[in-house]
Amino acid sequence: MTGPTLAARAAELDTADPLAHHRKLFLGADAVLSYLDGNSLGRPLTSTVDSLTAFVEDQWGGRLIRGWDEGWLELPQRIGDQLGRVTLGADAGQCIVADSTSVLLYKLARAAVAARPDRTEIVIDRDNFPTDRFIVEGIARERGLTLRWIDVAYDGGATPSDVAAAVGPQTALVLLSHVAYRSGFIADVPAITRIAHDAGALVLWDLSHSVGSVPAELDAWGVDYAAGCSYKYLNGGPGAPAWAYVARRHLATLDQPILGWLGSADPFAMGSAYRPADGIRRLVSGTPPIVGMLAMREMLDLLEEVGMPAVRRKSELLTAFAIDAVEDVLAPYGVVLASPRAASERGGHITIDHPSFAAMVPDLWRDGVIPDYRNPDGIRLGLSPLSTSFGEVAVAVDAIAVRLAGGAGTGGDPAAGR
Ligand SMILES: *Cc1c(COP(=O)(O)O)cnc(C)c1O
Repeated sequence: MTGPTLAARAAELDTADPLAHHRKLFLGADAVLSYLDGNSLGRPLTSTVDSLTAFVEDQWGGRLIRGWDEGWLELPQRIGDQLGRVTLGADAGQCIVADSTSVLLYKLARAAVAARPDRTEIVIDRDNFPTDRFIVEGIARERGLTLRWIDVAYDGGATPSDVAAAVGPQTALVLLSHVAYRSGFIADVPAITRIAHDAGALVLWDLSHSVGSVPAELDAWGVDYAAGCSYKYLNGGPGAPAWAYVARRHLATLDQPILGWLGSADPFAMGSAYRPADGIRRLVSGTPPIVGMLAMREMLDLLEEVGMPAVRRKSELLTAFAIDAVEDVLAPYGVVLASPRAASERGGHITIDHPSFAAMVPDLWRDGVIPDYRNPDGIRLGLSPLSTSFGEVAVAVDAIAVRLAGGAGTGGDPAAGR
């Protein structure tokens, strides 16, 4: 499957794709571009242009400060509830939109270790996203705790047996990603959560790379805490606020470290002492970033209409097509798949490795083929189910093949590598 064959196969898959028509709802989708970075910054929906304009004109401009009493203050919880219902398998009252993922991970990890005051260890994997590792390193320093690191395969992630070997009577918290940001590996959240709980520990799951592409069942899985981004598969826009989930059983005792007036029981009493709000609002610190959460609501409406099972099916077909194309067209040049092959084990993106990729990516970007680069030599193909076509995948694989054949890196004659 090369050149014309690859393009023809992509065209067949696009024609057969029952979700293909949703692609035109995204701004810029008809530009001559292969955009494979929707897992890093999702495209905006065109409806976002209208909703942002309407907000500025009617709400901010029209209602001015009255807006806070007319719905803005409740918006972080209303959008949180919708997010929980549509993508997270979470009942109302447990999710909120606030802060950044980094800050929410800090608050939740601190709350977890506060809930296990006699325990001294946090378990995390070495290939977790940098911010996740840095946050717990900071907390370990601050609280005198020890980090217990799990080593993972370059094309995998933490498994139940890895976690079983790492947890013990000293474990306060296990922090892992649902979908690994590099390999795309899907962790077995329910099994790992059970193992952590059997050891008396709490779990904090980072869903940044799954929310909006891989369905979750946080309530059914027994998860304690979770957090994630909204600018990736939720198309919330650059710097859009993050979201957090706290299981209902932990809400009444949640002890988070950044006590601000808007997390207090009665902010407008301007009282002298902090008393936490009931429910998920106690995770809030300051004024909610209202403008920043409008775009993700447009995407949540679309995900609700399409349904997560259909989104996941398209995602599996996109990654399967990408893997087939990589193995047929790029493997002969020495390109290696650094993601799981089994559909049940991979999320919405795949990573492929080749020593020439660091030098190649800027060149691809210049020509309108936009994947991203992840150290040491990975190209990550992020396939956002509702805005990515099979044709875009074929264009990218061809563009990479052309450069490998042209002698970039260690390529050359594809037959030589067979
Ligand atoms: C993208 C991502 C983040 C980003 O955190 P920010 O605070 O939004 O910059 C954190 N964790 C994971 C796993 C991610 O994929």
